[in-house]
Amino acid sequence: MILEHRAVAPFFKNGFVIGCEETREGIIVDPGDEVDQLLEAATRHGLSIKMILLTHAHLDHVTGVAKARKALGVPIWLHKDDNFLYEQVVQQGMMFGLRVDPQPPVDHFYEGEGPLRFGRYTVRVRHTPGHCPGGVCLAVSREGEEKATLFVGDTLFAGSIGRTDLAGGDLPTLLRSIRDVLFSYPDDTIVWSGHGEPTTIGRERRTNSFLI
Ligand SMILES: [Zn+2]
Ligand SMILES: [Zn+2]
Repeated sequence: MILEHRAVAPFFKNGFVIGCEETREGIIVDPGDEVDQLLEAATRHGLSIKMILLTHAHLDHVTGVAKARKALGVPIWLHKDDNFLYEQVVQQGMMFGLRVDPQPPVDHFYEGEGPLRFGRYTVRVRHTPGHCPGGVCLAVSREGEEKATLFVGDTLFAGSIGRTDLAGGDLPTLLRSIRDVLFSYPDDTIVWSGHGEPTTIGRERRTNSFLI
């Protein structure tokens, strides 16, 4: 699996380029202010990007969608329960004192777990509400393999959990999503969060003080 991540000021939110090393098909996850660097990474790897997938629709995760869409001409996917946030991206920006342009409409809402495909890889979509109503975990696996790499958005972080004080957030729901969905994966599963360094399910299960 080809994997590149970038994060820039002010939010230092991780955006991802994920590609199939065999077919050179790929996806972009959560393009934000670092979108130019993601597009550059995709080009450098010779990837043909097939989809823009969003883990959720908070401002920091979507500010690069318009640019990615314009450059790539590929569909945008989001969970339907976060579309209200996506459509309010301009107002979300105002809350932070930022001028943000409206983003192009979502093309597809995730249907169940999918799965979606690029090259020899599948993306299983797991609904993990709590940080926001339409948060999802994108579980990327190579065809025919059990092992997944998780892109969890802002649901779980290395040593922390997502905030639940924003619109539609709910702590008991977040904890249930982490315990029932994310912790159903084996300990050696790699977790890429929306902010900060990667971790593993085992490490968070054992050491995350919000979850012990
Ligand atoms: Zn968020
Ligand atoms: Zn975020």
